[in-house]
Amino acid sequence: MKKILFISDLHLQASQPQATHAFLGLLKDHQDVEALYILGDFFEAWIGDDDKNDYHQSIIDAMKAATKSGLNIYFLHGNRDFLIGKKFLQETGAQFLPDETVVNLYGTPTLLMHGDTLCTLDYAYLRSRKFMRNPLVQKIFLCLPIAWRRKIADKMRADSNKHIKMLTDEMMDVTQEAVENKMREHHVQVLIHGHTHRPDMHRFVLENKPATRIVLAAWHDRGSVLVWDEAGNYSFITL
Ligand code: MN
Repeated sequence: MKKILFISDLHLQASQPQATHAFLGLLKDHQDVEALYILGDFFEAWIGDDDKNDYHQSIIDAMKAATKSGLNIYFLHGNRDFLIGKKFLQETGAQFLPDETVVNLYGTPTLLMHGDTLCTLDYAYLRSRKFMRNPLVQKIFLCLPIAWRRKIADKMRADSNKHIKMLTDEMMDVTQEAVENKMREHHVQVLIHGHTHRPDMHRFVLENKPATRIVLAAWHDRGSVLVWDEAGNYSFITL
């Protein structure tokens, strides 16, 4: 049966061989897979497509082989890898999707997001996001030497970890209000996102019709994939 796969929050890095191995395995075995959607935070950190090393190259090569053999890979930015750019996409053959893209899953219009913009109680993060997503800021950052960029990124990650410790459980999650607003705005009854690392399928009523919000899992210990088949059934599988 034909199917579409969704993953997010792999946080790939050389020091996490399990996640890397699981992802490479997923790329090899893609029979009946019509598309693989990566919904952000694919890499733990990305400071520019010109930051080449053997680890990045091994991922790029595997993705290139998969797209060449007919797998459609779609990619949208997370809050850690939003600097993935044209060069990476060209080299891998992956296709870029803006955050908030509606796709048709065998007849079901479905909104895809990373999920960070749904966490509307974390004002400080949303403020810094606005700054970091400014194209001019990104342009300047990408002109800096790689060693400087790495230092800045490390500092930002340390600050972010400190910031997260200050947040309540509630502030780290999406708000139902933001979820419903986005779903209404895009006229969908299904939303798939990652980011919060709280895998679940939430069911509620929206516009007097059943609605579903599917949250993808992070790949800390094991890989996790949402499989959506052409009969309209969907479930998580662990790798
Ligand atoms: Mn994230």
